[in-house]
Amino acid sequence: MSGRVYLVGAGPGDPGLLTARALELIATADVILYDRLIPSAALDGARADAELLFVGKEGGGESVPQEQTEALMLARAQAGQTVVRLKGGDPFVFGRGGEEALTLRAAGVPFEVVPGVTAGVAASAYAGIPVTHRGLASAVALVTGHAREDAVDAAGREEEGAIDWPALARFPGTLVLYMGVRQLPQITAALIVAGRPGSQPAAIVEAGTLPAQRTVTATLETIAAVAAEEGVRPPAITIVGPVASLAAELAWLPPRPLTGLSVAVTRARTQASGLARRLQELGASVIEAPVIRVEQLPGPALDPSPYDLICLASPNAVAGLFERLDDGIHPLGDARALARAKIAAIGPGTARALAERGVVADVVPERFVAESLVEALAELPVRHALVARAGEARDVLPDALRARGAEVDVLALYETVAEPLSPRALQALRAADYVTFTSSSTVRFFVQAAGGEPALAASTRIVSIGPITSETLREHGLEPDIEAATYDVEGMIAALLADAAARASNGR
Ligand code: SAH
Repeated sequence: MSGRVYLVGAGPGDPGLLTARALELIATADVILYDRLIPSAALDGARADAELLFVGKEGGGESVPQEQTEALMLARAQAGQTVVRLKGGDPFVFGRGGEEALTLRAAGVPFEVVPGVTAGVAASAYAGIPVTHRGLASAVALVTGHAREDAVDAAGREEEGAIDWPALARFPGTLVLYMGVRQLPQITAALIVAGRPGSQPAAIVEAGTLPAQRTVTATLETIAAVAAEEGVRPPAITIVGPVASLAAELAWLPPRPLTGLSVAVTRARTQASGLARRLQELGASVIEAPVIRVEQLPGPALDPSPYDLICLASPNAVAGLFERLDDGIHPLGDARALARAKIAAIGPGTARALAERGVVADVVPERFVAESLVEALAELPVRHALVARAGEARDVLPDALRARGAEVDVLALYETVAEPLSPRALQALRAADYVTFTSSSTVRFFVQAAGGEPALAASTRIVSIGPITSETLREHGLEPDIEAATYDVEGMIAALLADAAARASNGR
């Protein structure tokens, strides 16, 4: 029995523009074949055991050949798997989705097409440009600006065909040009020679709907020069027609405080997405450089009933504890097994992880380090405590509880291990405006991933989540430029925002 292939559009970049159907299919797929221009958060909801295969083009480099992608897609489907072929924008708008559908039909593999929000319409909308407008444009043409290289495929067939510039020059409506940022001078010249007025408004929207979105407006005659001057780079769409001038009136995207700044996130991929999303919402380009991976440690079921205090040192500890909970009365992982103990969380993230499982922490210290938890617990009578945490951690809390006469069991639930960084990630990270460190282990693993050569650009600012992490940074010869006042992700973001604002007012 053949599996099914879903040709799915992932929208132009803002994860909010993924359709409900796309999210549902991503969550169920066995295999996801994805392109480069998909929202970075699109794969967050994939199954942990799903096979995620990148088949796009790495920045200007070689792309996975189309035949190879199609062969992979067929092979997986014919093996009975559910395949999501995830593409930027809409799969049938300059996405080669039609070709892939033909291949699937020829092989007798069932498929579905899930339309996506196409970049030409979405980037325009996010720039305040309606592609049709009563009185200004009653038609819109989606045009590829990449005809020369794209016109002939590997087999020598014509694909999109050569572009009929005279016909487009006469087209009574808006032209939306995909691709072709580099060919813009030739394209605009061809349109003008063919009779489109050079004075017509034109706009180019770079990285539309993404944190780094930027709009440049000019006229058909000047747009290529202005775009070159401003350093506009792909992905970008170009809009030619009277509607382009509406951007001046209708631009609605508020300026964001971190626009134009790149921020590297070094924490584990499983934990990074929340931080990455917050930074992106604030306008930053996020460099995902996870140097750490969390591995749950196997272990026997745990009966928590002997404990009158259970301390959880991180959200990972919460996840690990619930996998082991079994008091012989309630089923494995049931929060009721914890009913007898007081529950202490080291910080709000850990408290949130508990709340997601129906447990309200009794104690959350004001400052999120073990020492503060010790203080916060000072009044609490404790006989027998459980400290659930990582394999390797400081003993401040167990020692302090023992010093008060309590019996303490330390339960090591997970280990953090180094995740090697690709040379590309390393390079991007070294050039970032900010690098964030959310724990001492991210520092150690970063130094390790960098081959003991933690050289960051002199202009890169090092952001530390708190004093313990700062200390580890200094031990490795890295002086933190910014330290959060409250030792959690929100505190770190607040400190970063304050720094960015100060730099902006100093002209950076
Ligand atoms: N299937 C896609 C288009 C793929 S062709 C869709 O429907 O949107 C790739 C081109 O799409 C890029 O060269 C660029 O012109 C445009 N594009 C994709 N994402 C974009 C974005 N976020 N902002 C501006 N243009 C984008």
